[in-house]
Amino acid sequence: MPAKTVSRPSAPRRNASSYVLDRELVDDLVAANRTLARLGVLDAFGHISVRDPRDPHRYLMSRSIAPESVSAGDILLLDLDSQTVDSKDEGKLLYRERFIHGEIYKVRPDVNAVVHSHSPTVVPFTVTRAKLRPLLHNAGFLGLGVPLFEIRKHAGDGTDLMILTPNLGKDLAKKLGKDAAVVLMRGHGDSVVGPSLPNAVFRAYYTEINARQQLAALTIGGPINFMSRAEALTSNDAMLKASARPWALWRKRALAEG
Ligand SMILES: [Zn+2]
Repeated sequence: MPAKTVSRPSAPRRNASSYVLDRELVDDLVAANRTLARLGVLDAFGHISVRDPRDPHRYLMSRSIAPESVSAGDILLLDLDSQTVDSKDEGKLLYRERFIHGEIYKVRPDVNAVVHSHSPTVVPFTVTRAKLRPLLHNAGFLGLGVPLFEIRKHAGDGTDLMILTPNLGKDLAKKLGKDAAVVLMRGHGDSVVGPSLPNAVFRAYYTEINARQQLAALTIGGPINFMSRAEALTSNDAMLKASARPWALWRKRALAEG
């Protein structure tokens, strides 16, 4: 089990190339990247990480390339300060917003995977009064809360809206809170978390789908009959198990692409 809140300094960086990553987990992460790119959640930007089950103070993530292009050789190991830990990875280009991942892992021991995307249909819900709410049973996790991160409150006016520092990563993780699965990022996208990589991929996809369906429902007349909180929570529990089915399909398809 992951440790509780990690406030200690990260482990000393190794000088030798000594880490052999779990091949199955690497393949999972490759498949997750390609899948969410194919499904339109990720474009040339965005990134996915998974906590290292052998060391909860570390996580795996691709070097900075388009998610659709990720292969096994691109996967790196980072500490929770979002720095590489293996000497062979020094100098590689890292995702500039990787602090989203490390800082969430520090404060959410229940989280083992994070997806940050610019999920296109979600963005309108970050800049209007419309609240993203669960109407589709697959998206019951939205009933855990959908907080909105306003970067101006933390970094003032004039930023590029990106999470480029550890402190902004901390602020975002704080806004996500203890229970939510999704935090919206104004004018930018969202960050989605899950207890497993398959579940985080599932949630990122169905956050986008629920947003599409909410917009569609509005065009044919409201009010929308959203899921109740009780329904959302029950559905979330069911989908934690059910997400294995689409994941098996997505993974097989993604890795068949070579
Ligand atoms: Zn971003």
